[in-house]
Amino acid sequence: MVGVNPEAVEVVVRRLVLMGPPGSGKGTQAGPLTDTLGIPHVSTGAMFREAVENGDSIGRKVKEYLDHGQLVPDEITVAEMRRRLQRPDCAQGFVLDGFPRSLEQARALDAILADQGHQLDAVLHIEVPPEQLIRRMAARRVCHGCGTSYNMCFAPPSTPGVCDRCGSADLYQRDDDKEETIAARLEVYERETQPLIEYYERQGVLYHIDGSGSIDETADAIRQALAA
Ligand code: AMP
Repeated sequence: MVGVNPEAVEVVVRRLVLMGPPGSGKGTQAGPLTDTLGIPHVSTGAMFREAVENGDSIGRKVKEYLDHGQLVPDEITVAEMRRRLQRPDCAQGFVLDGFPRSLEQARALDAILADQGHQLDAVLHIEVPPEQLIRRMAARRVCHGCGTSYNMCFAPPSTPGVCDRCGSADLYQRDDDKEETIAARLEVYERETQPLIEYYERQGVLYHIDGSGSIDETADAIRQALAA
């Protein structure tokens, strides 16, 4: 459990973005953070994977992009996100994981929030060296039941093959965590998402988080940033 003191961050920080390359631990850090703050974890990747699994119309449109580690077109992604952020559970805030991923998406997010009379409170950029990212992604397994991520080398579930959070015995490797797709995803991040760092730096909401240590060390760095 991330040691975020809700009283320290509840009032000031409610609309958060977790940014970072694939494998940097955004999803891992988001779960406990949202549990503590009582706000939803909104992951575009998880939304798209669920749509693909359900075989619905969005899933059919996005499958090819996910399979090749490419970004889903903005008109689909932004429309999905606008719909998601209008749901009542986001009224008190949210932690975004995997969105925005391009300048166009960042501008669209600002517009969505402005329509609601809000703005982002903080963007946490989790930084991890590339060689470490590749090792982490290859060892990542995700729970089918609740989406919790495990690293089979560094942070496996306490009972082998069983999710600590929901008890499901169905842990799987994401198709896009296979070696051939990992390189494409890192390249897309570098090209499309790095420019966001400057964008948010100019807005004065960016925090650099060292994500190269353990899960707890990264959680601690996030806690310190939010309490600052
Ligand atoms: P993630 O779980 O965040 O690594 O996302 C998995 C995949 O979903 C990405 O490789 C993209 O194909 C797609 N995706 C997730 N978020 C976005 C986004 N904000 N914009 C476009 N595509 C996205």
